[in-house]
Amino acid sequence: LHFQNAHFVTSAPDIRHLPADEGMEVAFAGRSNAGKSSALNVLTRQKSLARTSKTPGRTQQINVFGLDDHRRLIDLPGYGFAKVPLAMKLKWQQALSEYLEKRNCLRGLVVLMDVRHPMKDLDQELIHWAVASDLPVLVVLTKIDKLKSGQRKAALMQIQEAIPGFGGDVSVILFSSLNKTGLPELEQKLHYWFAN
Ligand code: GDP
Repeated sequence: LHFQNAHFVTSAPDIRHLPADEGMEVAFAGRSNAGKSSALNVLTRQKSLARTSKTPGRTQQINVFGLDDHRRLIDLPGYGFAKVPLAMKLKWQQALSEYLEKRNCLRGLVVLMDVRHPMKDLDQELIHWAVASDLPVLVVLTKIDKLKSGQRKAALMQIQEAIPGFGGDVSVILFSSLNKTGLPELEQKLHYWFAN
């Protein structure tokens, strides 16, 4: 499994338009600006596989990246924009919980959070949905290059203390797209999920 083989497959406006529910996929989710696109680009060693600049509030597509014939990365739309109408937010939440619940080929969920603003309401809700669907979750605390060592440890400990409350298979890593901190741990988790 070589992440640098990732290639764009398709964009889907909603989960019904995703490729057939076959093979294996791992989904990436996070609030807008959490650093999801940057992390995907670092993971795949590509400068602009996932787009890092977006128009806030615009309806976003689900991007599908193929790794090989039966493994995919799913780049879910960023959430949390204040300006998005409530009805649209609720529709998105409904679609996402449905995706986590019904997608058979889904092997795990990566939830990216800015280490300075972790575990917002929707982040937590997402983890609850995944756990309720027996899906393992990896919390990736991003942009840790922005914090001093002591602050990093404190942020990590805070999340580690919150994790047992979710009940399921939830783990956390520190990550920086700038200097690739945490990349081996992210890769290891994905290898494990895609192998089982
Ligand atoms: P997305 O909306 O979740 O896809 O977030 P992006 O990947 O587009 O990143 C949002 C902003 O944060 C951009 O300006 C990135 O350059 C910046 N950013 C992302 N990851 C990191 C990181 O690890 N370190 C630093 N310092 N900035 C980052």
